Amino acid sequence: MSNKDKPVTNRREFVQKLVGGAAAASVASATAVLAGAETVPESQSSRQKQYGMLIDTRRCIGCHTCSVSCKSEFDVPLGVTRSWVEYTEKGSYPNVSRNFLPRLCNHCSQPQCVDVCPTGATYKREQDGIVVVDSGQCIGCKYCILACPYDARFLNPVTGFAEKCDFCIHRVSKGLDPSCVNSCIGGARIFGDINDPDSEISRQIALNPTTVLRPGKGTEPNVYYIGADHSDQHENETGGYDVRVITHRKEKERR
Ligand code: SF4
Ligand code: SF4
Ligand code: SF4
Repeated sequence: MSNKDKPVTNRREFVQKLVGGAAAASVASATAVLAGAETVPESQSSRQKQYGMLIDTRRCIGCHTCSVSCKSEFDVPLGVTRSWVEYTEKGSYPNVSRNFLPRLCNHCSQPQCVDVCPTGATYKREQDGIVVVDSGQCIGCKYCILACPYDARFLNPVTGFAEKCDFCIHRVSKGLDPSCVNSCIGGARIFGDINDPDSEISRQIALNPTTVLRPGKGTEPNVYYIGADHSDQHENETGGYDVRVITHRKEKERR
């Protein structure tokens, strides 16, 4: 756990801590992230196991089965998603292309969400590097949601607690793949320990050119992509609008 504030065991303890002023450092940290400053948690590189995912976008057909299976697995309410698929459309008719970009929490090695959480509800598991949310300690302050550079988190409208992908811990702990991997029609997803050089995910990462999302943020994502189109609407060199990114993440089009 890289949160320097000691985790408190319940919300009452957190409020007492807040009144005592001990949470000021965490608030300042959240403000720094929102202002664009980089935070540098202690290194997680010595971790023995680090679960990650490799998504081969060349095999993704944009069917959204992964998103639906995730919704079903966690009974995720309407309007919010743990796992979603964006697609990028480029060009002008008839010269157009569409690329799919499945998205989820990156289970970063330097997770900014962990650094700003004032209660320790969000933390990175020592045993496997999965970043989780303990709803028993979450106070719904949204700091983690604002700090995540990937829009991977949301406040569950039913529970009021922060939520995101947890790599299906309940399945992984039984030796099963996460639900999105299990249901992927295109076989586009590989899950495994990226610190194990003999794992399938490690071998495929070694064999293929891969990218991660927003590497400049310093979060060290553990979700890798093959063949991903990371274009956004600002990269059109001609000044025209010929790229748009569409997502069902929040049931709206992002332009
Ligand atoms: S993607 Fe966002 S929520 Fe997930 S570990 Fe990284 S910073 Fe945290
Ligand atoms: S909303 Fe996020 S930052 Fe706030 S207590 Fe819950 S997990 Fe921590
Ligand atoms: S289930 Fe697989 S093929 Fe379908 S959208 Fe998700 S990643 Fe792509």
